[in-house]
Amino acid sequence: MKTSLDNYFPTTILSSNTKTGCSINLPIKGHCTPTKNCAACCYAKSGHTALPTNIRKQVWMSQYLKGPSIAQLILETKSRTAVRLSGTGDLSLDHVNNLLWLAQSCSSTMLWGMTRKLDVAAELNGRLPNLKLLVSVDSSSPDSVWNYQGPLCYGPRLAGDVVPRDKRIITVFPYHKGGRVINGVPNHKKDCPAVRHVVDGCMSCGRCWKW
Ligand code: SF4
Repeated sequence: MKTSLDNYFPTTILSSNTKTGCSINLPIKGHCTPTKNCAACCYAKSGHTALPTNIRKQVWMSQYLKGPSIAQLILETKSRTAVRLSGTGDLSLDHVNNLLWLAQSCSSTMLWGMTRKLDVAAELNGRLPNLKLLVSVDSSSPDSVWNYQGPLCYGPRLAGDVVPRDKRIITVFPYHKGGRVINGVPNHKKDCPAVRHVVDGCMSCGRCWKW
């Protein structure tokens, strides 16, 4: 059966943004397993990333990442220092084989990002030195997430949340919107410096993959 994606190929597979530099953007629908806080605060539900043309690219991206050839993605990724996985949405197990192939093919590029899926993190972390995923947790996450023994990021952090003292937490993301931290979210020493406007973006930081 033909779909609206059959004749579609984006001008560039990687998406650009001022914070992360470039990313693989995936859909929310059918991909995310959000917590209550994540669903309420999600930055990808509105604005530029939620435009129909961008959602079409996200849906296409997910299919492409499950498909037989990622040659063009490899070409684009090779010229980058770091690429954020799941700049929007979340990864799925169907993407694992091609992400391993991408990391192998682009050994000078760091592939990094966040996921709420423990099975995806377990399949990707520790497999290759240039593939680093943080598991996202927040105050509405199920207790079972804390059984994960790998690196974590905490966010969105709401005003009343107390960040656990836990060495696994690499980065804290204070809830922010439109480039501003929401009133009342306290500072934390592990806060993302780009969210706090201490650095201009991930390429000046790298904390989420330098662990
Ligand atoms: S902590 Fe650093 S690498 Fe991680 S999201 Fe923030 S700026 Fe980017």
